[in-house]
Amino acid sequence: MDAEARGERALSDGDGDDAPIPLWSPEDGVRRVLVVTAHPDDVDFGSAGTVAAFTDAGLDVTYCICTNGEAGGSDRAMTRGEMAALRQDEQRAAAATVGVTDVRFLGHPDGRVQPTIELRRDISRVIRQVRPERVITQSPERNLDFIYASHPDHLAAGEAAVDAVYPDARNPFAHPELLGAEGLEPWSVRELWIMGPGAPAAGIAVETTSTVDRKVAALMCHKSQMPDPDGTAERIRTWAALAGETAGLPAGRSAEMFRVITIP
Ligand SMILES: [Zn+2]
Repeated sequence: MDAEARGERALSDGDGDDAPIPLWSPEDGVRRVLVVTAHPDDVDFGSAGTVAAFTDAGLDVTYCICTNGEAGGSDRAMTRGEMAALRQDEQRAAAATVGVTDVRFLGHPDGRVQPTIELRRDISRVIRQVRPERVITQSPERNLDFIYASHPDHLAAGEAAVDAVYPDARNPFAHPELLGAEGLEPWSVRELWIMGPGAPAAGIAVETTSTVDRKVAALMCHKSQMPDPDGTAERIRTWAALAGETAGLPAGRSAEMFRVITIP
């Protein structure tokens, strides 16, 4: 059965060579999704519009945040412990805005995330607990054209998440304490989505026209990180519209795009 017969629309990526960017369909059989990011607010910048589209379609989405975000914000009077607690609360509120209630924090040190065996184990544990068909994470590759996306913690979280998807979570002999002491059976994630690429790297586009307002609302929950909320909201809407255009959607529509890696 080809993409059209499955009800998917093949979209132009706008670069003139007519290479199609498939549009996500809720009929693709995926029911559980895990999003792995470095900091509170990363998931909201990168994929909250998609998460809202998923939960609207009845998918279960879990967030796994590698740090508590204690190195964020500019309030020097606040202890880092207070900042961590505040940012966890902000992330839980943002998650609820897009239909997510399962938010897990791994507590690795903000600003010093490394793709260690311990971080790989901690992400593998969550994968084996949640058993998602799809994992969304940040790119482990530095983007020199958009340096904000390539915070070293993002690169490290992305690297560890990719390692956890393949091979750790599916290998019964990786992190043997997960199967031994914790009784967590191996789990094979079928699809890895990397946030943030434009065409031609994009493997899939998710239309967010009906969810971009909730994405903005989710971002506004991160008050401690938002010195210019109006400017941020405007930037988010502009990026969403540009992504929609790049994905070949009609004018005025919004999208988020992801690179897709299939791991049979
Ligand atoms: Zn971040």
